[in-house]
Amino acid sequence: MTPLVELPPQVVEEIVRRAGRPDFERWSEQLHRCGYCSRPVRLRGRVVHQSADGRRVGYSTDAEPDQMLMIRCGNRRAAVCPSCSWEYAGDMWQLLYAGAAGGRKGVPESIRSHPLVFATLTAPGFGPVHTTRTDRTGGPARCRPAHGTPRLCSHGRPIWCTTIHGEDDPRLGQPLCPDCYDYPAHIAFNWHAPELWRRFTITLRRALARTAGLTAAEFVQHCRVSFVKVAEFQRRGVIHFHTLIRLDGPGDFDPPQISVDATGLAEAIRQAAAHVRLTVEMPDGPDLVLRFGKQLDTQIVNSGPAGKLTPEHAARYIAKYATKSAEGFGLGERRITPEALPLLDVPDHVSQLVHVAWQLGEHPIYEGLRRWVHMLGFRGHFASKSRHYSTTLGAIRGERRAYRQRQATEHVRELLDEDTTLVVSHWQFAGVGYLTIGDTTLALSAAARAREQRQVARDAA
Ligand SMILES: [Zn+2]
Ligand SMILES: [Zn+2]
Ligand SMILES: [Zn+2]
Repeated sequence: MTPLVELPPQVVEEIVRRAGRPDFERWSEQLHRCGYCSRPVRLRGRVVHQSADGRRVGYSTDAEPDQMLMIRCGNRRAAVCPSCSWEYAGDMWQLLYAGAAGGRKGVPESIRSHPLVFATLTAPGFGPVHTTRTDRTGGPARCRPAHGTPRLCSHGRPIWCTTIHGEDDPRLGQPLCPDCYDYPAHIAFNWHAPELWRRFTITLRRALARTAGLTAAEFVQHCRVSFVKVAEFQRRGVIHFHTLIRLDGPGDFDPPQISVDATGLAEAIRQAAAHVRLTVEMPDGPDLVLRFGKQLDTQIVNSGPAGKLTPEHAARYIAKYATKSAEGFGLGERRITPEALPLLDVPDHVSQLVHVAWQLGEHPIYEGLRRWVHMLGFRGHFASKSRHYSTTLGAIRGERRAYRQRQATEHVRELLDEDTTLVVSHWQFAGVGYLTIGDTTLALSAAARAREQRQVARDAA
């Protein structure tokens, strides 16, 4: 927590006033119940219960601190609400884990025997950027050593870099020569990445059909490719995908009826990722052929004793990325125009990407791109899955919402100290966020403490 001495006197006064109120304990309890959300939704309302002997008893927020009840904001982004994004990542993990390990959320345990591969599909290079590397022993290595005689690019800049960059080096992801860097192709990749992914799934099915010796029509009668994927921005500002891909039979969660095992699936993924192409128009020049990068990682997920990558680890790895977005580039989460850039203090590389995206968006073939400039042109979902992978996030969240409502009802029942049934509830929106900066300060410090405890618990699990 920020030491009190650093807080403005006004805020200190707010904290002292809040803590001195007779209903402070009840306020803290509400805070705890909404998970120390950064900007909870405030509700006013009442609930009427019927007691066992037919009497009606009421609960109203009139008796609560500030006459309101706080509930979670539910935002997935860690930069907006650490608590709710944590919860989102937890839900995401449940979804991923159910599809990888089965035995939960309506997915049968037998799913463990289906071929399952964890794959990362990267973007190709658009020009050399500063990067971190490891040598053969796994130790840190130089960024881009000059092989043979050092050369300069046509703009007179070195195309080598012998620095060993630290993880927080601001040069990471920045091009060695901005004039050599293909900015329009970079933006085009982000913009078309969802379509490139869709083409990849089609190419993958064809590759699998070939491996199994089936026609495309026969293949769909024997096998279904289920997947879940999460998009992540690399430091250079380009999208890549982390994905879990599983083979099923034609029915819900049936075993696949083809003779392709996890090794065969991994091979088919590598083939499809290497061969898929998407030709797109560019306003000023020839068509561009988009493809995935050569850096491709496939790992077989195995729940048996020989499993190097367990379903738990794969699920945790992907869920981690679900709460990230382009916020790391300092562009915020709303639409922007290039005029806003001087106010945002972003690196030159990001600024250039924004300018180029804006220029491309002027052309009819890139209509709509200007709305996605703050996402560097990526308009897809950060997390998505095929229909049959496992349960839906909505189902998990609905389950939890129902649970929370039951808890709220239970809570009200306890307050009333009676055995009651809910008759009617009526809620009204009263605002978002805490009432004072003092309240926010108290909530955030409590949230940080709670998060530390949960991290310890999750790490231990
Ligand atoms: Zn929240
Ligand atoms: Zn470098
Ligand atoms: Zn150059």
